[in-house]
Amino acid sequence: MDLGEATTRSSEADDVLVSNIIRTTSYHRRDFDLAVITTNPEDHRLVRTSLTEDIHTTYSCLGKLEILPLETIHQICLLLDIWSLFRFRQVNRRARQVVSAIRSYKVIVNHALEALCITLRTNIATWFRLSDLFDVLCTIKCHFCGAFGGFVFLPSFRRCCFSCIQADGLPCVLVLSDVKHRIKQRLGRVCSPMPTVRTLPGTYSMDETVRKRRTEIVLSESISAIYLNDEVDETRVKRSKKTVLLPYMVTTSLPYFDYKSGVVQRGISCSGCQVALEKALRSSRVGSGACAMRDKVYSHDEFLDHFKACQEAQNIWKSRRRGSDNANFSEFVRRGGYFKRRDVIMSFNTF
Ligand SMILES: [Zn+2]
Ligand SMILES: [Zn+2]
Repeated sequence: MDLGEATTRSSEADDVLVSNIIRTTSYHRRDFDLAVITTNPEDHRLVRTSLTEDIHTTYSCLGKLEILPLETIHQICLLLDIWSLFRFRQVNRRARQVVSAIRSYKVIVNHALEALCITLRTNIATWFRLSDLFDVLCTIKCHFCGAFGGFVFLPSFRRCCFSCIQADGLPCVLVLSDVKHRIKQRLGRVCSPMPTVRTLPGTYSMDETVRKRRTEIVLSESISAIYLNDEVDETRVKRSKKTVLLPYMVTTSLPYFDYKSGVVQRGISCSGCQVALEKALRSSRVGSGACAMRDKVYSHDEFLDHFKACQEAQNIWKSRRRGSDNANFSEFVRRGGYFKRRDVIMSFNTF
């Protein structure tokens, strides 16, 4: 079968072929995931059972709420912010039963548990509803540039991509303590409530910078609103080395969930482009866009379009079909990107 044709047919056999092409010639950039807020998956394994538990029978009840139809109770639940919803869920087994039956809750717990736990741990859960998280989960493109986005920008709950995190493409954020005194001077009282992310200790950015202290981070535009339209000098703020790290400390990875097909995508990069870059480095003839191509993250459909034009990816596919074991052709691909000591440094349980 022609490789180009393989990506356009829709029969079941071709679907298998397409998934084989994706599995063989692409990989997920794990180093990007580790550059933003991340937590120990082991922690979630312990809570997953409790969050997904099916409660069939219970003798507890919701008191006066029980006179309402279940659909109405679900609608009320969806109007609560995530934090309040989880407080309600903790009331008794009946409350857990009711919340666990919400469709968007099931999807989020199954496919975005880490992001959900991070919204709770960073205190941003008080500002957004479960439906907000569900909407972001079902959005594929970066809100800021339109590329495939594998992350969520927590201060405004928008989907974003790693390029926007890395290349200053997100809205400006500030450390609250750096501007709090100016707000007090202006208003004569403690600042007004605004979406605030309380960061988690961890290792951030591709430089693997360790941050042990928790800080509160807010959107610059929220501060500007409190300043009564008096703009914060973002240019000056952005130049600070300390603030370059902030976008990484207020974002976390979030897969895309296709509601119609039930398929989950985390974003994939091209193994062929990495192999091409390694060959170019050996011959000292690295093209201007080689690194950008290597770092590009695709949706499945975007990758199949790229595959048709990427000679090196097709070479990998052909050699795999001839039976060659090319699993170890690139250490970078095997590891899912580049990181020096992050896996060793991360001390999850000290948070
Ligand atoms: Zn973007
Ligand atoms: Zn490629």
